[in-house]
Amino acid sequence: MTKSLFDVSGKVALVTGASSGFGAHFANILARYGARVVVAARREDRLEALAGTIAANGGEAFAVPLDVTDADSVAAAFDAAERADGVVDLLANNAGVADTKMAVDIDEESWERVLDTNLKGVWLVAREAGARMLPAGKPGSIDNTASILGLRVALAVSSYSASKAAVIQLTRSLALEWSRKNIRVNALCPGYFVTELNAPYFATEKGRRYLERTPAQRSGDIQELTAPFMLLASDAGSFVNGVALPVDGA
Ligand code: NDP
Repeated sequence: MTKSLFDVSGKVALVTGASSGFGAHFANILARYGARVVVAARREDRLEALAGTIAANGGEAFAVPLDVTDADSVAAAFDAAERADGVVDLLANNAGVADTKMAVDIDEESWERVLDTNLKGVWLVAREAGARMLPAGKPGSIDNTASILGLRVALAVSSYSASKAAVIQLTRSLALEWSRKNIRVNALCPGYFVTELNAPYFATEKGRRYLERTPAQRSGDIQELTAPFMLLASDAGSFVNGVALPVDGA
């Protein structure tokens, strides 16, 4: 049988933020393309359910609890993944949060929650992955979920936009440092997709009008992330490194 362009069999993939939205989707497709998948987030009941679904569909998945803002929790998740499956060589660094407020209304607690999760968390997880991939001497790929809001701005998302712009620069820096070791680091920059992160807003009249004013005039379907994500994650993108790839319809 001809192998798929996106084949990742033999790889050990760790997906953060796998308890909902994009992360659950990425875990499902990585398993479908053959990876052994470690699904990580704080809501363990959701992870166990996802691992069960993946197994029922013929894939291999294993759930680990993870708080990306806590270095000890990050190290423990990678230890558990390694004990179960071996060194992680494919990372979907995807956990993230948003707090939609005008800049003048953002308090320190909100700022820290968004930056700690979206930037420090992505850095802690990437650093842990790199510290294990580099000595293992295996090729690897890291796919950071940034956002089109890391490339441009919108109203009432200044902390989120700042965190995602920083993730893009972190992505480029890591790609530069690790390219000689054959570890690619890229950023996926989705536009608007309805998930738990934003569903209440997009259910309002204001949210619907906002989507209509975007160039695509609609939200994305999560399936439209599959090929862009797999391009960055799999060897299909073997010469794609340090990019920020928008997936926003226009
Ligand atoms: P969801 O709210 O559905 O998913 C967010 C995930 O992040 C959850 O699984 C949550 O799990 C996890 N998470 C949050 N905080 C932590 C933490 N401290 N430690 C570990 N996991 C954490 O939203 P999306 O799927 O939409 O978001 C996924 C990523 O995509 C985010 O980085 C988001 O910024 C980005 N994005 C989303 C867009 C969209 O339109 N939806 C557009 C562009 C980018 P748990 O609570 O169980 O820990």
